[in-house]
Amino acid sequence: MQEGFFTKKETQSISRPGGRVYSCVACGLCKDCKSPKMEPFGNFKKKILNIGEAPGEIEDNKGKPWQGKVGKLLQRTYDDLGIDLFEDCLNINACSCRPVDKEGNNRSPSNFEVECCRKTVLRTIDEYKPKLIIVLGNSALFSLIGHRWKKDLGGITKWRGYTIPDQDFDAWVCPTFHPSFIERSFDFKGTSVEKVIWLQDLKQAFKSIHRAFPKYVEPKIEIIEDLSVLDNIITEIAFDFETTGLKPHAPGHRIVCCGIATSENHAYVFMMPETKKERQPFIDVLTNKNIGKIAQNMKFEETWSVVRLKQSVQNWVWDTMLASHIFDNRAGTTNLKFQAYVNFGIVDYSSEIAPYLQAIDNKDGNALNRINELLAKPGGKEKLMKYCGLDSIYEFRLAMQQRSDLLPF
Ligand code: URA
Repeated sequence: MQEGFFTKKETQSISRPGGRVYSCVACGLCKDCKSPKMEPFGNFKKKILNIGEAPGEIEDNKGKPWQGKVGKLLQRTYDDLGIDLFEDCLNINACSCRPVDKEGNNRSPSNFEVECCRKTVLRTIDEYKPKLIIVLGNSALFSLIGHRWKKDLGGITKWRGYTIPDQDFDAWVCPTFHPSFIERSFDFKGTSVEKVIWLQDLKQAFKSIHRAFPKYVEPKIEIIEDLSVLDNIITEIAFDFETTGLKPHAPGHRIVCCGIATSENHAYVFMMPETKKERQPFIDVLTNKNIGKIAQNMKFEETWSVVRLKQSVQNWVWDTMLASHIFDNRAGTTNLKFQAYVNFGIVDYSSEIAPYLQAIDNKDGNALNRINELLAKPGGKEKLMKYCGLDSIYEFRLAMQQRSDLLPF
């Protein structure tokens, strides 16, 4: 069979990966609990949806979420912040049925059980249209984000504290710790550092009920062949290269294409011309001291410019990756994909392309990646250019946002 653009793995049905069906029958928890498929509970007056982990024994007996000790902690904490857990919110769990271990004790649901219940969670969001979704703990995180973030999801410690304008759900998504983790963290005075962080996260999250929800417009990405249109650029740009590898020095490496965002909604993209003459308008932009340059990890664009274009970049003004480190240096949070989601709510614009930008074996960083393989596929070049343009646009948007957050005056 002729190989297409997508691999078999990429075209597999999401609901039946590897032939596994995610359903209540496959999960089976509903057979043995007292309150199977627990319904959403709460009057939802402030349009807040809380996603917990799973019902425990007390919840299962009463047929309602958050009835036990941990539920009481959540109720009290919300009360202190001016939110009534059952009047203002709707409450569901990542897994709607109570999971038990061999001894009949409460346990956390497995990823498979959460995946089986994901349809219910997504249907509830679609039906109720919450303004704010509080994601309590790892199971809730995996339920809501795991299917859209297949690689390096990480845990709640990485995600907590962000207020994400999720464009798929049209709602603010705010991950934070599960109350059982907070309860376990208490010292003899009944408090903990974790509780302080948790309160801060929740306080911040509740503020978003009053914030206008930003909807991002589809950016205009202009593919150009004649680079002389770049002569029109007079102000700041964010630019991004797609290259044959990480480091430019080894033979065979080249800059494949370049995206230049001239605003938050417009970018030029072009394949890097082979001749110096054709590249000259771009070199003029790079060397123009009046045009400020923004990049995500400027060391990368600078090195490739010097080695492969024989030109140092003039007037660097902002590095979005460095700035992300200053805001928050948790592992796995400073890459552009993560930043585009937590800041703009745009999830997974890169997963189709990402495998081609990695080398199979790259111990010293000099290996070639698989970009030439991508270019040889039907539509591969267009996909790469669109991705490159989007990268430059998200860099531009992120730089503007970071500046206004860091330098508000
Ligand atoms: N823990 C949860 O995650 N959900 C509940 O409903 C109760 C306890």
